[in-house]
Amino acid sequence: MEITTLERLPLWIGGKAVAARTQRYGEITNPATGEVIRHVPFANRDDVDAAVAAARAAFPEWRAAPALRRARILMRFRELLDARKKSLAAVVTEEHGKTLADAEGSITRGMEVVEFACGIPHLMKGEFSDNVGTDVDSWSIREPLGVCAGITPFNFPAMVPMWMFPIAIACGNTFVLKPSERDPSMSLRMAELFKEAGLPDGVFNVVHGDKEAVDAILEHPGISAVSFVGSTPIAKYIYETGARHGKRVQALGGAKNHAIVMPDADVDFATEAIIGAAYGSAGERCMAVSAVVAVGDVADTLRERLAQRARRVRTGAGVDPQSEMGPVVTCAARDRIMGYIDRGVEEGAELVVDGRKPAVPDHENGFFVGPTIFDRVRPEMSIYRDEIFGPVLVIVRSESLAEAIALVNSNPYANGAALFTRSGHAAKRFQRDTQVGMLGINVPIPVPMAFYSFGGWRNSLFGDLYVHGMDGVRFYTRGKAVTARWPDDGSAAPGFHMPLMG
Ligand code: NAD
Repeated sequence: MEITTLERLPLWIGGKAVAARTQRYGEITNPATGEVIRHVPFANRDDVDAAVAAARAAFPEWRAAPALRRARILMRFRELLDARKKSLAAVVTEEHGKTLADAEGSITRGMEVVEFACGIPHLMKGEFSDNVGTDVDSWSIREPLGVCAGITPFNFPAMVPMWMFPIAIACGNTFVLKPSERDPSMSLRMAELFKEAGLPDGVFNVVHGDKEAVDAILEHPGISAVSFVGSTPIAKYIYETGARHGKRVQALGGAKNHAIVMPDADVDFATEAIIGAAYGSAGERCMAVSAVVAVGDVADTLRERLAQRARRVRTGAGVDPQSEMGPVVTCAARDRIMGYIDRGVEEGAELVVDGRKPAVPDHENGFFVGPTIFDRVRPEMSIYRDEIFGPVLVIVRSESLAEAIALVNSNPYANGAALFTRSGHAAKRFQRDTQVGMLGINVPIPVPMAFYSFGGWRNSLFGDLYVHGMDGVRFYTRGKAVTARWPDDGSAAPGFHMPLMG
């Protein structure tokens, strides 16, 4: 790429900003204006090696620090995040495009994981059994793994990394984060704040990059575990490649989240909830509602209300407090989403609200797509099958709750699903029969709180453990069981037979 005077982001290694060794750089754009605002290095293997070496060097001392001492640093980190929330939100909005209020909310949700991780002295407690055999005690402990890595998507540059590193670090691991190359600045801000909070150098490192950096992480013998969040094809690749290299891997993938609306639902409430869930962050949320399943005779009324409300969504720059929905992240994302809308029309779906020509005054070069609604969508259409990851909502009509649930269960994605109803019986059936990781009942985006775990089923997660909550602690630690006796002089020593305790 041509050398310009724009800022080139550094990496963060060993507690300081360092220039990358790579010569490959990419562009970061402000999605609201279309301008290139800075450049991001695409780290090479040497860069990744340097980050892993710093993380390995910091590990022995960090794992030996009492959990309470580690927790206190996290408490200070949490206070700094809270104090700087507005300026951090501005960093997210500038590179991602989402509104400032939405960016601030995402930082709060990330902070909640830091708050959870502050309880690490309690969370890492093991079990103890007195006298499992005569004068023999047994206990279990959980130990950190070593260097853990996180590879994260563009859509939550603060929150998704914070699903990972606060818990990994609280458990006594050291960490290398490879954030999305589309909005990487937030990771550097978090690294600076963590240092200010007292985190020893080398415990948290940031390398920027693309496939080259990711492959270097997956193959690196110095890395014990990899957490990934992103699209399904890459999640599958990360899981397979990481496992082949002997790593513990959790890889969260894409989504197509359904909201089933029953004939007895409060339609006004459901409309508002679905509009926010479909168009908040321009639909670039892994828990966005992208498919509505209208059951029975609610369909016509619901379609009308959704359309009326969608037409009133205020689309504009994320920094404008009037905006409800910002641009999508890149020009390529906009073109891909527009392509899906064209295809939906070709495939015979009914285009109820067309977002292909959004009017955003003074932002002609921004990457805007307006709210879009298709009705009478059939499961074989690409707008239903694929994750569009933009402000496009499809309505599928269904005869019954059982048929609606069967449709949800036949989708390869299974991240989240929601039901809108006034019936406890329908809610119970939905909860029992829906084969999806996270369910909402009259809650459109059922993102679990930090003290529960987050993850989907089927193609939405590869691996066994979810992120944050107790699964997060389990993922970033491994168990050790100790059996001990302190024999008196003259105690009989164990013989040849299989040791029996009871
Ligand atoms: P992405 O898969 O394109 O990128 C994610 C990460 O993988 C980035 O760090 C990127 O640099 C890296 N990457 C991209 N291509 C790669 C390749 N060929 N080889 C190795 N690494 C590669 O995802 P994205 O576009 O940044 O984010 C959007 C996707 O993330 C959506 O599919 C969304 O559903 C998903 N997502 C899922 C969750 C969840 O919890 N399940 C949460 C947020 C986002």
